[in-house]
Amino acid sequence: RDTVSPEADLDERAIEGALRPKRLADFVGQERVREQLSLMLRGAQRRGRAPDHVLMSGGPGLGKTTLAMIIAAELGAPLRITSGPAIERSGDLAAVLSTLHEGEVLFLDEIHRMARPAEEMLYVAMEDFRVDVMVGKGPGATAIPLDIAPFTLVGATTRAGLLPAPLRDRFGFTAHMDFYDPADLERILHRSAGLLQVDLAPDAAAEIAGRSRGTPRIANRLLRRVRDYAEVHGDGRLTRDTARAALALYEVDAHGLDRLDRAVLDALLTKFRGGPVGLSTLAVAVGEEPETVEVVAEPFLVRSGFIARTPRGRVATARAWEHMGITPPPDAAF
Ligand code: ATP
Repeated sequence: RDTVSPEADLDERAIEGALRPKRLADFVGQERVREQLSLMLRGAQRRGRAPDHVLMSGGPGLGKTTLAMIIAAELGAPLRITSGPAIERSGDLAAVLSTLHEGEVLFLDEIHRMARPAEEMLYVAMEDFRVDVMVGKGPGATAIPLDIAPFTLVGATTRAGLLPAPLRDRFGFTAHMDFYDPADLERILHRSAGLLQVDLAPDAAAEIAGRSRGTPRIANRLLRRVRDYAEVHGDGRLTRDTARAALALYEVDAHGLDRLDRAVLDALLTKFRGGPVGLSTLAVAVGEEPETVEVVAEPFLVRSGFIARTPRGRVATARAWEHMGITPPPDAAF
């Protein structure tokens, strides 16, 4: 499943470091976010102040970490990285906040997973650059206010809706990261190919881009798989034919669907005449847990218009019948 998963493990993150754009000008796509950020950063620099806190929302692999690093680089400021799950107690956050330097950028990934008591500490820190350190316990406990250096918080979340409103409201700017269109993914692929010193033909880039599910991380990963294939089975050049052969080997089809996605569609079409069918029944038919189908396969199938969720269950769309090359029965439910 790894081939088209938007998540990355630690090994892959290490490889990704080399492909990250370092400055805003090299960051491909997300035009609006880029322009808005650029304006905000320039404004802050003119005033010689730390810019507003920035919230980035969007799925995994769309460039949130990359953008946080770019914000620090553009400000010429150091970057501190932590994540919601690492902050289990407010003391964990206090330790980070009280050691920040003036102007530092604090990247808080998966901010929605931070412990609740820490959230309140963060509100105060964001607004007043202060932390209240609790000394003692019970009725005798006192809060000792401690000034901290003005900093810029860059928070990332897969869904801004998961954040409590008071936290969301304290961000001066929210960047919504969308999926990338194929032309942007092609540009990202050409850029990566240059860095990896591989010879990528334009039609090969288009082929890979079309299968990357709108996600730069997946595009870069497919590029590495195609490179392996070209080096082992060919002369190292990435042509459209090598791209097709390599991705067929990894079972990533022309729309970026993998084996599980296709199994779900196939079951929906052939066993349930296109639905409607309940999620758990569908999951049993493909031999998977309902959660796997719901979390791993379904979001992309829904987003790409292959499946619709209805109150009566999952229904295949006309596009699904067409993509799978199966003729729908006359009474198909779409
Ligand atoms: P996660 O939430 O899983 O950490 P993320 O949204 O932080 O994901 P990144 O780690 O920033 O994603 O990006 C994943 C990979 O995609 C990196 O190698 C990065 O260089 C590349 N990438 C992402 N966005 C762009 C872009 N706009 N231009 C070029 N490369 C990009």
